[in-house]
Amino acid sequence: MAAEDTTWFPHLFSPLTIRTATLANRIVSSGHDTVMVHDGKVTDQLVAYQEARAAGGAGMIILQVAGVHPTAHYTAHNLMAHDDTCLPGYLALAEAIKPHGTVLVGQLFHPGREIMESDDGTMPVALAPSAVPSERFRVMPRPLRTAEVEELVDSYAAAAGRLVRAGLDGVELVASHGYLPAQFLNPGTNRRDDAYGGDGEGRLRFVREVLAACRVAAGPDAVVGMRISLDEREPSGLPAEAAFAAAVALADEGLVDYLNVTTGTSATLGGSDHIVPEMGMANGYVAPAAAGLKAAVGVPVIVAGRINQPQDAERILAGGQADACVMTRALIADPEMPRRAAEGRLEDIRACIACNQACIGHFHAGYPISCIQRPETGRERRYGHRAPAAKPRSVLVVGAGPAGMKAASVAAERGHHVHLVEASGRPGGQVLLAQRLPGRDEFGGAADNLYREVVRSEVKVSFHCRADAAFVAGESPDVVVVATGAQPYRPALEVMGEPWVADAWEIIRSPEAAPRGRIVVIDWRGDWVGVGVARLLAAAGRSVTLAARGYHAADRLQQYVRDAQLTAMHRAGIEVVPLVRPYGIDDDTLYLQHVLTGDPVLVEGVAGAVLACGHSAEDALLDELRAVGTPAVGAGDCLSPRSVEEAVLEGLVAASEL
Ligand code: SF4
Repeated sequence: MAAEDTTWFPHLFSPLTIRTATLANRIVSSGHDTVMVHDGKVTDQLVAYQEARAAGGAGMIILQVAGVHPTAHYTAHNLMAHDDTCLPGYLALAEAIKPHGTVLVGQLFHPGREIMESDDGTMPVALAPSAVPSERFRVMPRPLRTAEVEELVDSYAAAAGRLVRAGLDGVELVASHGYLPAQFLNPGTNRRDDAYGGDGEGRLRFVREVLAACRVAAGPDAVVGMRISLDEREPSGLPAEAAFAAAVALADEGLVDYLNVTTGTSATLGGSDHIVPEMGMANGYVAPAAAGLKAAVGVPVIVAGRINQPQDAERILAGGQADACVMTRALIADPEMPRRAAEGRLEDIRACIACNQACIGHFHAGYPISCIQRPETGRERRYGHRAPAAKPRSVLVVGAGPAGMKAASVAAERGHHVHLVEASGRPGGQVLLAQRLPGRDEFGGAADNLYREVVRSEVKVSFHCRADAAFVAGESPDVVVVATGAQPYRPALEVMGEPWVADAWEIIRSPEAAPRGRIVVIDWRGDWVGVGVARLLAAAGRSVTLAARGYHAADRLQQYVRDAQLTAMHRAGIEVVPLVRPYGIDDDTLYLQHVLTGDPVLVEGVAGAVLACGHSAEDALLDELRAVGTPAVGAGDCLSPRSVEEAVLEGLVAASEL
């Protein structure tokens, strides 16, 4: 991409030279675990995933962490670069990515005490500067012996040499997020009395030696960068002034060619929430810290922190706060974002909504990452390109929720003639409800983005059009995609008297409908609905109790999203009763049952209850069409109620097979 040609974002699309490598633009994909790794090695899936980002115009791709030593295997699926068997995989990545003009760097990693898991479910030996436990993973490490520290320095260097031999432009030392180098820098986790501890100089020694050794091993032309959390946002974390001083010293000594600034730490729940910030965090919130560092060093500064739109990145760059911007999730959601931004096609960009569900959420669950808005991500080899339809057909799509919109746009892109009909007056389905919950307004972007794809692909759309079998017969399409969604599910309750009971959808639409007094939200799914409704009611001045079926509230949400919800609930004074199912209700008491013991659990003095008990499929039309022999496929909640992610994926799959 000829970055200079654009006038849309002059700073974002100006080149940046880091040592010998020149980025065509200032858009960076930072190192992020993908779970597209097998036996510690690069897979074809990972190559295809990263190549799609390079083809879309990313200026620089920093590959995910690679363990530099056998003791650096911190999950069951992180890359390893501790011996030469990593070379073919890195060679394949370089061969796929370099032709696109993207600068390619690989991360060098050791977690220290921040060990999540092993291949076989046992806990591996954890090593760290000192015996200080990780609060988040509840790991107590064994202090490294001095000879082991020296061995690790050599391991970093050897891994750096391998990555550069494989064709990468350079390496990045991961000294961020409380991992091993940060553990050496932090006086709270480095209590050593040998040459690698003691005072500030001693604590800096490990990082200094690692970078110097990497420079020698990588050669004079290779880029050597470092990622650092300038503020770990945790009282026990690396002090911000110590991180800043270390970064300045290493830059002044010529040991780093760039600094990649982030925030947070893996070591605690609150600190880790900044590793992949959810939608409640402000766009570009790390930029002020990066600006301070940029003013103090002579090397380029890259900054992360929920920069999900080119407009945000341009503002940060134009303000002189950084030299390049990490836009990792923006590229997960839309690998074509750089090209679209350069061409001024801003309406076509599928902006990341920071839901964390299919990217970091999949990683934490041990599955390949994807995007709820773009299921093609992570599935590039199967769905990376639209195969033109062998024979264009007329396709009727019923329902303009996420499944229907995705099915309609993909079918049209493949050359089919598509009519999308929707019973209501707006596209979006349940997304329109989700965006009304506290802290979830950005979620509405999923509906906006999908509908823009519908419009762009020139699908015919009819609103206020309820499709039944007679309507379908009148349209006589070649095939119907049924995406009729779901309705709230009401579990059987013993009801005595005339208690007030509503379902979650009613309260999302009108929280003021709830009576004054204590309202109990009965939360079965443990997702955003129960906690969202509870917060909505609390904001409307009600006393709220959340009766959770799970071990705790929101237990099905990705950790960083859940933590934000739990924080807000704590501050709103919402009471949580875990491990219960509903049994009955009368005019002032809700009768629950403990799910483990069956013992009764009573909540007395209640003014009413809200059921956040999931949904039941709206599948009548699908059955009717099949009964009369009309070719029809289902997608999304009408097959079985789940989430937006499955709906969009099934829309893609259904339309890809027409
Ligand atoms: S899953 Fe959500 S947070 Fe992740 S890239 Fe997609 S929109 Fe962004």
